[in-house]
Amino acid sequence: MSAALKPETTDSVLIRARNLTVQFVSRDATVSAVNGVDLDLMQGETLCILGESGSGKSVTLRALMGLLPKRARIGGEIMVAGHDVARMSESQLSDFRGGEVAMIFQEPMTALDPVFTVGRQIAETVQRHERVSRSAANARALELLELVQIPSAKRRLEAYPHELSGGLRQRAMIAVALACRPKLLLADEPTTALDATVQIQVLLLLRELQERLRMGVVFVTHDLGVAGEIADRVAVMYAGRVVEQGPVAALMAGPLHPYANGLLGATVHAGMRGKRLTTIPGAPPSLEALPPGCAFAPRCSEVMSGCVAEVPRPTVMPGERMVRCWKYG
Ligand code: ADP
Ligand code: MG
Repeated sequence: MSAALKPETTDSVLIRARNLTVQFVSRDATVSAVNGVDLDLMQGETLCILGESGSGKSVTLRALMGLLPKRARIGGEIMVAGHDVARMSESQLSDFRGGEVAMIFQEPMTALDPVFTVGRQIAETVQRHERVSRSAANARALELLELVQIPSAKRRLEAYPHELSGGLRQRAMIAVALACRPKLLLADEPTTALDATVQIQVLLLLRELQERLRMGVVFVTHDLGVAGEIADRVAVMYAGRVVEQGPVAALMAGPLHPYANGLLGATVHAGMRGKRLTTIPGAPPSLEALPPGCAFAPRCSEVMSGCVAEVPRPTVMPGERMVRCWKYG
């Protein structure tokens, strides 16, 4: 949702990012991965960041967690759970991560340690952030495995990550992430590597947990169908910019931006019967040499002469929607 539609910071605001930019500078090139992103998230809300590979979704999420490498050049304002992420020290950041804010990834082995049992990892995460006894932490580990609906949870406490199936491993990672009752969960394509049926189960679980725990969730995906299952709001990214943002139902019923429209045409979804799947011709621009105008203009079927001259500004549309396209403003 655009800045203009949101109240100023209150307790229930979990994320407020303004004009977020991230560049990776090396001797040979500057990669402009994120190019002026505004994001807002309220408590209890699920925002999907949707976009194809390389559009800057993971870099945006990592910026919110203060997880970018030192050589990344970061600009703009990033407030997360009341903290100015850019000003936090490493030790403040490590309390913040896994405490108030947790993250889950596509590959659970990036979050799970292969040499410790699942139960021990959850208990240690709890003890790292809270003053509780070992036995209380173990009891919490069992509760968490039950919460994420791992069957025979008691027995699974003693399992090593490699002994679990992909779907159960993903659930174990979610249990670790929830160990300290985060207010905010950032999820980076956590179901992408799973088989379709397991993917749906994990999505349903995440939605149920989000409601039960009243968490704010930012869920990154390249799959519009996944966004439709889990999101309240969707932000569509292209070449490091949010080109459209709005409530998921409205966006799926009638996308405003030609790129969002193209994505919808390229996705198998309900209401699709009898329609042909289409693809968007061309490829995204190089982030080392972005065009001066709209980054989608070279692929856009509705391109106008002004589109190549200047990056479109955000236009607020009825129904709490925002679009960055010269068609509208
Ligand atoms: P995605 O939308 O697929 O998650 P990313 O956010 O991972 O895309 O990446 C956006 C762009 O930033 C890509 O061009 C990627 O190569 C680049 N990038 C990401 N991380 C780094 C890094 N640590 N160093 C240099 N470039 C990076
Ligand atoms: Mg990614």
